[in-house]
Amino acid sequence: MSEISNGIIPDYIVDYIRERVPMSREGLRTLEAYAHEHGVPIIHPEVGQFLKIYIKTAQVKRILEVGTAIGYSALVFADAIEGKGHIDTIEIREASAERAVANIKTYNQSDVTINVHVGDALDVLPTLTGPYDLVFLDAGKSHYDKYFDYADQFIGKHGIIISDNVLYKGMTATDDLVIKRKKTIVKNMRNFLDELVEKEGYDTVIMPLGDGVAISTKLGE
Ligand code: MG
Repeated sequence: MSEISNGIIPDYIVDYIRERVPMSREGLRTLEAYAHEHGVPIIHPEVGQFLKIYIKTAQVKRILEVGTAIGYSALVFADAIEGKGHIDTIEIREASAERAVANIKTYNQSDVTINVHVGDALDVLPTLTGPYDLVFLDAGKSHYDKYFDYADQFIGKHGIIISDNVLYKGMTATDDLVIKRKKTIVKNMRNFLDELVEKEGYDTVIMPLGDGVAISTKLGE
């Protein structure tokens, strides 16, 4: 039996896929090394690659991200946007937000403006107006339902909302993997996904990519 250290997909599959994700450009590699060294969670390479492809295919220009961390994912998205664009990204930890602002200043090579908003997403979201083509949820896992409701107001037909880390190291899918202190988060995530797949006006697919992503597209007449 093969090892499954991410709780989702056997290691040999993860390794195989990651060896085939293109290497990041200079600058982003510096941030990857920093994240690795300091244990900062950044977007999984295969999730980043998937988003880059989606951004190009759907010609995404405007993105809302909840959970900036050190600005790595925002820079990945900015690289993928063709021409001018705009990214609003929200970070609750002041130190991370400051680092993100500095990283964006140093490494943004695109025509995309990236605004880092510091604060609790539930305070910042009501101050934003949108519209956005894509919303990426990658923050406190217990509030995805509330973030999603805001995101819904900001996107139009065919807009897409991507929720990251929804399988949460496999814990969402089986009690066997649940760590005691994560019980509440897991319960909230399960409730979120159960409601999400039933949500009217949306189509959703849950994919075992990275730590699990839920991709929801807004329907319309
Ligand atoms: Mg994530």
